[in-house]
Parts: sequence; C-alpha cells; structure tokens
Amino acid sequence: MSIWASFRGHAEQREMFRRTIQRRRLSQAYLFVGPQGIGKHQFALRLAQSLLCREPGADSIDACGQCSGCKPFLAKAHPDFLSIGCPPGKRELPIELLVGPNERRGQEGLCHDLSVAPLPGSRKVAIVDDADTMNETSANSFLKTLEEPPDRAVIFMIASNLDALLPTIRSRCQLVRFSPLSTDEIEALLVEQNLVQSAADAKFAAGLSEGSLSTAQQLLEPELSSLRSLLYAQLALPQFSGLSLSKQLTEGIVKIAAETSEQRRNCQWMIRFTIEFFRAALWRLSGEYIDAQATIAEVESFAQRIALFPDSSELLGTAIERTVDASIHIDQSVPVPLTLDSLFDDLSRKFRMQSSSR
Ligand SMILES: [Zn+2]
Repeated sequence: MSIWASFRGHAEQREMFRRTIQRRRLSQAYLFVGPQGIGKHQFALRLAQSLLCREPGADSIDACGQCSGCKPFLAKAHPDFLSIGCPPGKRELPIELLVGPNERRGQEGLCHDLSVAPLPGSRKVAIVDDADTMNETSANSFLKTLEEPPDRAVIFMIASNLDALLPTIRSRCQLVRFSPLSTDEIEALLVEQNLVQSAADAKFAAGLSEGSLSTAQQLLEPELSSLRSLLYAQLALPQFSGLSLSKQLTEGIVKIAAETSEQRRNCQWMIRFTIEFFRAALWRLSGEYIDAQATIAEVESFAQRIALFPDSSELLGTAIERTVDASIHIDQSVPVPLTLDSLFDDLSRKFRMQSSSR
C-alpha cells in the first residue's frame, strides 16, 4: 500500500514533488510554510521515506516499506535521517540541536550530522520543525549549512510564520506553501484516527477547526468540551444568571491552564462556542437544515423558546454582535473575568427583557 494512502490533502504539493523527483531536480533546501496542524510535518516525513527508499516503484514519490532504507526509517533508526524541532514547553529551537552544546560546538548537532557522509548509495534527509522559532544566533549558524549544503543532502524546514524567519534563510530555500485542509478532510481525519467519540463531535470540531487538525484536537480536549456543555446547558435555560455563568466559566478556564495566554485562548473558545450556539439557533429558526448543531439538544430547546419572541432573528443577531465584541476585548487584553462578566450579564438581560416584554 502506498505510504500516501492515509494522507489527506495537499495534492498539488505532492504532484510538484513527484515531478521534481522524477526529473532529478530536487533542491537542497525547502521551506514548508502554512498554518499549524495541517500536515506539513507528515508530508515531510513521507517525502523523507520516499527519498531514502532503496527500491522505489514506478511512482517516484512512493516508498516500498520493506527495503534496507524503509525498514530502519520506519523503526526511527535510519542513520541518514535527521529530525529536530522545538521541544515541548520551549519557545525557541535550542541552538544545541543545530550546532551542538557550548563545549562541543560544531562537533554535534544537525549541522555536524548532515556533514557526515551518508551510507553508500544513500543520502542525508533532514527535517527542521518550528524553523520560525530559531533565534538570530541559531539562524546565523544554520545559515552556513544552507549556504554550502553537504553533497546529497536535502533539508526540509517547516514554519507557520514566514515573517519570523531571517530573509537570508528564506532566500536559500525553495518555498512551498501549504493551505488549510478542508472541513471534510479534517472530519475524515478525526474519524480515521479515532480522535472522536461520535460523528457529531467530528463534524462540530471540523467545522470550527479552520482547516487545522491540531485546532480540532484542541477543541475536543475533555476539559474544554465539558466547559462547552456547561455553557450550552446554561444558555438553554429560560433564565440564566449571567454572572454565575461567567464565574463558572472563569473558574474552569483557570483550572485548565495557569498561563495567561492559554487562559485567553480558552476564553476565546468560550466566546466562539457562544457565537456558534446563537448561529445554530438562527439557522434553526430560518428552517435551514444543519445536521451538526441541530443534534445538540440545548440549541434545539433554546431555538424553540426564542421562536416565540417577537423579532427573534434580530435579537439573535444583536446577541452575536455583542459576543463578537467580547472577542475583540480579549484581543485588546481586557482581563478574562471582566470580559465574561460583562458579556454574559448583557446577554442574560437581553433574553430576560424580551421574555418579560412578551
Ligand atoms: Zn523502500
């Protein structure tokens, strides 16, 4: 079976490399750029295997999976395959990984390992993940390798933020852009990789993922999911207490992560979930069929109740606008508790006023 059988998306890039390898026109350094979580690393891994395969078939971009190149590669023990990236919890790609620790500078690290001759008939293949997290010193020491790459070496650099790379690095690499995956592709990946409990979960997470598998996975984290359930249960109540809801959400957000940036990220998800809730209700009112959100019982009961209000669509429209404002406030660094307090207090008043004016 082809090593690309389980790979989704990026057909154009695959075709480009297929032709390039066929014509033996491979460059020595490539820079893969695109949003996080869309498969750039997986793409580079498959490409690396196909370049190290000793018995490639007719398809230049495929690998046999059996030969003396594929077997050690699949066992993560191929001496000619090198891979580095930013370790979890670190903000920068450590310079040691590129040029060795202080006391052994130049005698270890990726640049040194690339300069060691490959096995007879083989070549060196390196993946540099998170290349956009290199600091200037690291980038400058890596530049020497890019300027005079060792014979028979191919380097794949991976980045999500092109602007964070030194222009001198960028100009030494052939740029390959990757686009977000489609919602259908994300949905299929979530199901194939057993990352979801139900088809409805897959549809929901895919719909909000913006084409990134890692974002979809984030959305499915149990803590975030249970906060979403709490939020939806409250919003569906005939009268909810805005301040009490805000307090519970803030506590949940603080419990998930101590870091402020993470808290803001999760607060943005709560805001986004709220918008989706109102949007789903709006679609439901307009009679449009939407299978993902309509299966959420809370949206259904909320929509049924709202349908009795005069100007219910307009009301939902202003509720969405108010919620979008909260997202802007978080971007402007307004504290999480303050933003949520004022948002849900406003929302609870909006729906309460409507129900008393009936
Ligand atoms: Zn092979």
